[in-house]
Amino acid sequence: MKSVETDSVCSTIRRFYPGWSRYRRLRADVKRAASRIVDCRTSRLGARLERCQCGHICHIKYNSCRHRSCPRTRVASERNGWLD
Ligand SMILES: [Zn+2]
Repeated sequence: MKSVETDSVCSTIRRFYPGWSRYRRLRADVKRAASRIVDCRTSRLGARLERCQCGHICHIKYNSCRHRSCPRTRVASERNGWLD
């Protein structure tokens, strides 16, 4: 189940960060985190195909960014029990 709150945070960053950051001096770790969040669950980070028993492609699941600051990655990690 997707979190509406998580999606809105990620979509807000994705929408406004590129223009907002263009004229600002940001620390490298902030840039790296924002870049990963912007690319999270997009084709830029690759994808895996899920197939049915007949071998047809049923779903395309885009890879998460795996950055600890990303709300989408954090929700998925908590759901799968990956966090300490
Ligand atoms: Zn992510």
